[in-house]
Amino acid sequence: MPDLPELPDLPETSLDPDDWTAVRAAGHAALDEMLDWLMTLRDRPAWQPMPEAAFAEFQRPVPRGPEGLDQAVRDFRRAVLPYPIGNVHPRFWGWVMGSGTPGGLVAQVLAAGMNVNAWGGQHAAPYVEVQVLDWCKQLLGFPAEASGILVSGGSIANLVGLQVGRDAMTNGLAGTDGLKALPGDLVIYASTETHNSVERAARTLGLGTAGLHQIPVNDRLEIDLDALSQAIAADRAAGRQPFCVVGNAGTVNTGATDDLAALADFCAREQLWFHVDGAFGALAAISPALAPLVRGMERADSVAFDLHKWLYMPYNVGCTLVRDPAHHRRAFSPGAASYLSALERGAAAGPHNQSHLGPELSREFRALPVWMSLKEHGVDRYVRQIEQNVAQARALGAMVQREPELELLAPVALNVVCFRYRGRGADLDRANAINREILMRVQERGVAVPSSTVLRGVFAIRVANTNHRSRREDFAALVAAVLEEGRRLTAPA
Ligand SMILES: *Cc1c(COP(=O)(O)O)cnc(C)c1O
Repeated sequence: MPDLPELPDLPETSLDPDDWTAVRAAGHAALDEMLDWLMTLRDRPAWQPMPEAAFAEFQRPVPRGPEGLDQAVRDFRRAVLPYPIGNVHPRFWGWVMGSGTPGGLVAQVLAAGMNVNAWGGQHAAPYVEVQVLDWCKQLLGFPAEASGILVSGGSIANLVGLQVGRDAMTNGLAGTDGLKALPGDLVIYASTETHNSVERAARTLGLGTAGLHQIPVNDRLEIDLDALSQAIAADRAAGRQPFCVVGNAGTVNTGATDDLAALADFCAREQLWFHVDGAFGALAAISPALAPLVRGMERADSVAFDLHKWLYMPYNVGCTLVRDPAHHRRAFSPGAASYLSALERGAAAGPHNQSHLGPELSREFRALPVWMSLKEHGVDRYVRQIEQNVAQARALGAMVQREPELELLAPVALNVVCFRYRGRGADLDRANAINREILMRVQERGVAVPSSTVLRGVFAIRVANTNHRSRREDFAALVAAVLEEGRRLTAPA
């Protein structure tokens, strides 16, 4: 072994400031600046492109010497803050994104101040998380003894649920001996409308994309139960091992919800793990009016959902709930890691070790903003905001249907609206190109940010409304801009 290299003998130092007053001033100014920024969202475009000068900022080499906190804040203010994707803006309805709250910002400041590692041990953070999970169980109708974990979002929440299901349905073998020990290939079933995070989870879990069989949908874009049953019978006959069905509570494309009660019955009968991807749609359960749409979800073996989408929590926080805690624990058992052992007393004691229920060891304190926001507003207020989003989506759907130049492309099942500009007798390719151009122009003008999808070959302008800041007039502004650009693009030359 070579000799240890010599190191210079310097006086000790730390990264804490010599002058706390300066950092204190910068901290107060930063919080004030962001609160002002949130107060004035409507004065700015929903999105704006980044100029060349902004890109240059991101080519600079790593600083060797100190530039100072104030300079770093100035860089942020110049190169970063003016160019958000826009999800906090009142006219942003792209993909499915959360809009956050000012109270959530304050809670994040407090969580950042503590800067605690919420993995486990004896301290307050795991208790906060377990209480948030208890609240989630109550809200979604899951049994009190169910298990759960907060994760970064719906993608990882799906991965966790599917890993627990994979190991549960192979009696732990997939987790210990690997897939090669199994008598046949494991298969997950989900509709063609299912979010791609399920396919990515299948890859991560070693099943490959071939381990996900996509089942056709009916005209309401819900999974076709007969096709599901036939696919599973055929795979069993071919020696494969069906083990899991994923039901959708609110598909990403159109907000459609599979018949979850029928899927729960089917999975019980066929002895399959029933996982629900309810990234946003699961939250319909907290509204008495909307809850019937997701009936059956409470019978799932695992459910994945986001709190940063339809519960308006700041990024990022999603959740997996697992009905059987023993299955959950087995899938993420820490093994024989002596450095993680609990002791009888002291910091390493404590009943809650959340890092043993998911893939992450070090974890941010993402439960705190959820815990504080639920206290700040109360659940009833969230119910009202969710119902408001659905009512707004229905109103937008009606606006589209009243305009002969526009076409609604899917039923408004929840809070998602897919539509297009018809274009005068244009063929499909031309109509798709026109709508793609309309969408880009509406975004570039800063009017609004819907996103897009393709439904049965038709390019759709897609509005997913999980935005508590939107008002009816915002949707009217979108319709007006789409009509204007559509007419401009199809005007005879
Ligand atoms: C957003 C979404 C996901 C993924 O969630 P992330 O929080 O973005 O990781 C999964 N499924 C559906 C239906 C979604 O809408």
